[in-house]
Amino acid sequence: MSLADAPRISGWRSATIVEAAPLTPRVKRVVLGLDPPLRFRAGQHVDLRLTAPDGYQARRSYSIASGPETPDRLELAIEKLDDGEVSPFFHEVAEVGDAIDLRGPIGGHFVWSVEDGGPLLLIGAGSGVAPLMSMVRHRAARGDRTPAALLLGARTAAEAPYREELLALAAADPSLGILFLLSRESAHGPFDRAGRVDAASVRAATAGWPGPARHVFVCGSNAFVNAAAEAALSGGAPPGSVRTERYGG
Ligand SMILES: Cc1cc2nc3c(=O)[nH]c(=O)nc-3n(C[C@H](O)[C@H](O)[C@H](O)COP(=O)(O)OP(=O)(O)OC[C@H]3O[C@@H](n4cnc5c(N)ncnc54)[C@H](O)[C@@H]3O)c2cc1C
Repeated sequence: MSLADAPRISGWRSATIVEAAPLTPRVKRVVLGLDPPLRFRAGQHVDLRLTAPDGYQARRSYSIASGPETPDRLELAIEKLDDGEVSPFFHEVAEVGDAIDLRGPIGGHFVWSVEDGGPLLLIGAGSGVAPLMSMVRHRAARGDRTPAALLLGARTAAEAPYREELLALAAADPSLGILFLLSRESAHGPFDRAGRVDAASVRAATAGWPGPARHVFVCGSNAFVNAAAEAALSGGAPPGSVRTERYGG
């Protein structure tokens, strides 16, 4: 079935966990199999609903990390909060074959398609990379060469989700810049910089672009989004270009 044929579905539906594996020590990749597929735009999220045997329900939102080109396999990147209710379930209890209630796709503001053009500046930390990963994968799947840069904050290289995949994508595509900002480790190579996302790292990642960023997407915890949005603006992104997605915290 092509993407254009995929039905839009409202309300709750059932999905099946078809893959689950650690991306980093704190972030787990969970792939949900969907039949029929789910049509969505890069940047959107879904709501998941868990129901306990006594009927108690908990709902949480998770961004889609896979690209719209694989609508029958929805990838999520779920970060474990030790005192959380739902995220530890995915790390400690959920298994391949489990059924999960899902609703979506949701969100019409934090979305990007190749037709929207660029330059495209993406800034995330932790599981906040998820919707940005969907945009990067969508861009790659379409063979798009819009100037794009992804800045990813992490404590160490081992704690940066999708590091190997992003490095491979950047190696194959000179129009895609990747910069890991490592707050507790020194740089391993040219794709790393010690420190946090700031105006200087934004300027470094966007140097050589034909003009300022047209679309800026910032995603992560509240504190990270506040700091990174400010860094984007100080680093030259035009006011009005910045869209944010806040995960809480
Ligand atoms: C649009 C949207 C998309 C999201 N996408 C993702 C995603 O792709 N991956 C992902 O892992 N999470 C994502 N989240 C966050 C997710 O919905 C849950 O809030 C998160 O998994 C915590 O749920 P919990 O039940 O484990 O913790 P809870 O029981 O809800 O909370 C436990 C404690 O942690 C605090 N807390 C909640 N979120 C954070 C945070 N991000 N950082 C630090 N402290 C926090 C709470 O204030 C509370 O004190 C998204 C949130 C939104 C709104």
